[in-house]
Amino acid sequence: MNATRGKLDNAELLIEEALVGGEWLRGDAAPIIVDDPYSLDVIGEVPSLSQSQVQWAVDAAAEALPGWAARTATERGRILNRWHDLIAANREDLARIITRENGKTIREARAEIDNGAGYIKYYADHADTALGEIIPSPLPGKRFSVDYEPVGVCAAITPWNFPFAMLARKLGPALAAGCSVVAKPADLTPFSALAIARLALEAGVPKGVLSIVTGNAQQVGEVLTGSPVVRKLSFTGSTGVGAMLAAACAPTVKRMSLELGGNAPLLVFDDADLDIAMETVMIAKFRNAGQTCIAANRIYVQRGILGRFLAALKAKVEALRPGDGFEDDTDIGPLIDERAVAKVDRHLQDALQRGGELLAGGGTANSRLAQPALVAGVARDALLTREETFGPLAGIIAFDTLEEGLALANDTPFGLCAYVCAQDAATIAHASRGLQTGMVGVNNAAISLPSTPFGGIKMSGMGREGSLHGLMEYLNLKYVAQGGL
Ligand code: ADP
Repeated sequence: MNATRGKLDNAELLIEEALVGGEWLRGDAAPIIVDDPYSLDVIGEVPSLSQSQVQWAVDAAAEALPGWAARTATERGRILNRWHDLIAANREDLARIITRENGKTIREARAEIDNGAGYIKYYADHADTALGEIIPSPLPGKRFSVDYEPVGVCAAITPWNFPFAMLARKLGPALAAGCSVVAKPADLTPFSALAIARLALEAGVPKGVLSIVTGNAQQVGEVLTGSPVVRKLSFTGSTGVGAMLAAACAPTVKRMSLELGGNAPLLVFDDADLDIAMETVMIAKFRNAGQTCIAANRIYVQRGILGRFLAALKAKVEALRPGDGFEDDTDIGPLIDERAVAKVDRHLQDALQRGGELLAGGGTANSRLAQPALVAGVARDALLTREETFGPLAGIIAFDTLEEGLALANDTPFGLCAYVCAQDAATIAHASRGLQTGMVGVNNAAISLPSTPFGGIKMSGMGREGSLHGLMEYLNLKYVAQGGL
């Protein structure tokens, strides 16, 4: 790492090797170079593993599975708790790695460590809560029960926007349930995954139970989805790649958890508390520079509050400072790459061409820093209503009635999350019930917590992460019907 920016206290946490069956490996092919999205410096490189090296990881996971599954849940929980404590003890270094590879501000990176570590702790503490079921016998002399058993070897594929938390949400419940995992982090942000894997080994996670493979996404994906030994895929990323991976999992009939694109609507009703609405919009739209799957992509505002809402939001957006994530006064770090900045600009230009009015920001400070922007009067068919912007552009669309607002919000093939800002109980109840999404944030955008079931419907995916629902994603039911009693 650069000598001063993001320097680690423990340099051994920056690892340029993949973890395969408990061994740190380099690949034969040219490595993947990882750069810092703010400075554009090279941070380091990770191996391009061959398909046979990825297969070793799968084989090692299969070999390690019976021993891990046979441990008591309490013992697995103890190891996961030790892992959590090591992550907490290395919080600052891990946050620096995230800011370096992803660009987000160091404050957001620390929050990501706390959030992700919270998932590991939650599942460490709940490892022994998958209790099984005894069904009151409908027939004399017989006993009917359901045991919960680990799904087996799991594959996890994660994106770059929350490189630690997205992995922690999968590894916490999978390992607690007694599964072994081969995980592939995003090529752009592999270092936080490798660092926490080192800490997992230190905490006592046995060799082979967790592998972190890096390399060409398509080639790695082929091995993981094609293997009959892998019994589940948990994927977070784009809908296109998720659908393709689902098709690749079909011949071996794997279980799947898919957390895909969101295109979230945010509805602000006339009676909304303006301060709460501002807080909700600022988090839902601008957290992580707008690069979250639950980012408010379409902001619908009822006409009675529109003027006051725009004036308040304009002041907030103008005050946002984009820059180096390591600087204390930076609110918004760089976007992940130039393509991301270009997309934000494309959505902005489209909104303006269709009659939108630029109220704040716009433009780019450099090739990866997007200036936060606010556009009012956005057309209902603008590009930003159909594609995820994944950047700091807030487009505001007016509506009149609750029914109209709901119809606009639901006019999408996606269904991850929606937000409602209102005070009237009936409005809140109607809106929450009418929104076709897996999650609804009411006067609240901080919805991703370890004890809550995060996940979507429609083309946003299937399955839940967090809560006991998240643990069940890694457990099979075994129904036992016993006679002769
Ligand atoms: P994003 O738009 O967030 O980058 P992607 O769906 O492209 O989302 O990437 C999410 C994860 O999926 C990353 O780890 C990426 O490397 C991986 N990925 C992308 N394409 C494939 C593929 N063909 N097979 C397997 N994994 C893939």
